Amino acid sequence: MVGWEDILKNVAEHYVPSILDNRDIAVKDKMDPDDLDRLEKEGAKDLKKHSLTEHRTCGPDRPLAWYEPASSKHRIVYCIDRIIDYADKTLADILDHLKIKCVSRDVVRCWRLAFLSFIRRHEMFHYLFERGSRLLEDGRNAYNHYRNKVYGPRYGKEGNLEEALAEAYAAVWCKDELERTFEIRQEAAILPLESLCRDLKVIFLEKRRIAGYEEARHFLDEMEKLYFNRDLPIIHPLQTALSQPKLLYDKEITEKVLRRFIHGSPDSWHTSFKGLAWLFYELHTGKQSPFNTNERDNPPRPFSTGIFVAFLANIQKLHSVFETLLPPPDEETRICEKNLK
Ligand SMILES: [Zn+2]
Repeated sequence: MVGWEDILKNVAEHYVPSILDNRDIAVKDKMDPDDLDRLEKEGAKDLKKHSLTEHRTCGPDRPLAWYEPASSKHRIVYCIDRIIDYADKTLADILDHLKIKCVSRDVVRCWRLAFLSFIRRHEMFHYLFERGSRLLEDGRNAYNHYRNKVYGPRYGKEGNLEEALAEAYAAVWCKDELERTFEIRQEAAILPLESLCRDLKVIFLEKRRIAGYEEARHFLDEMEKLYFNRDLPIIHPLQTALSQPKLLYDKEITEKVLRRFIHGSPDSWHTSFKGLAWLFYELHTGKQSPFNTNERDNPPRPFSTGIFVAFLANIQKLHSVFETLLPPPDEETRICEKNLK
């Protein structure tokens, strides 16, 4: 299955209610309107633990999806059976928590689509980061070096900063992605997108207890800052950026742009972007950052303000002139497990 629209169709039409059956939750055409109302208003709010609490989004053990960089096949692979499995399990967790015993097919489909869309945004962060690496003069090598020396060794062990930031990014850009999903599907979501995003945030961020992912909540503020200022002007033509990335923003403009973000001393502006400043450091130096300690609050000043601002602007919009640096990856699905129960 190739292409995002087909993947959504596949998930929307896939129907195996066994997980919900096993949890004694009936799946019917309609559900009690009061229960639907509680799902909308309360949802996962006070959920303590759930099926994804100790599971990693990108693996290496039983990943839900992963990103393969441009040096490989440049694609996102979705383990579609596993994603549906975890979508159903987490929905059952929420329903159990609310003591709801009957759910409608529309809600199951809606939650699966939302769950998958959240994962897509997470994977797209990995793409945006690789795209942003191309702003550095020797970006390709810097990125490969980073994959080998920083991302790889930490992958699945201590967890890594890129995974935490990907989850924080997905939580903040969630509504945009969900709007697009339901637009493509030409259907109205049975639950408001705000409720779906609130619950996805609980599931993927707030109640995660696994290295790398549990740090995501520390980086929500900076992602929100980027999101709410997502119309940073691109001053120079991208051609300039490609030949001399440093000139993407001149000094005066860069300072002006930064002033929109900073509420403090101009000397410490970069601390408004703790995680992203550390990630930029990891990319530039090829060294691991202490993102999982209190030192996360004191990232070093980026080696170039202009490139760092361009690096931030690149993350703000999935579709933008930065696509010239690296086009979006292909998207495909895979059946990753047999005999799912
Ligand atoms: Zn990931």
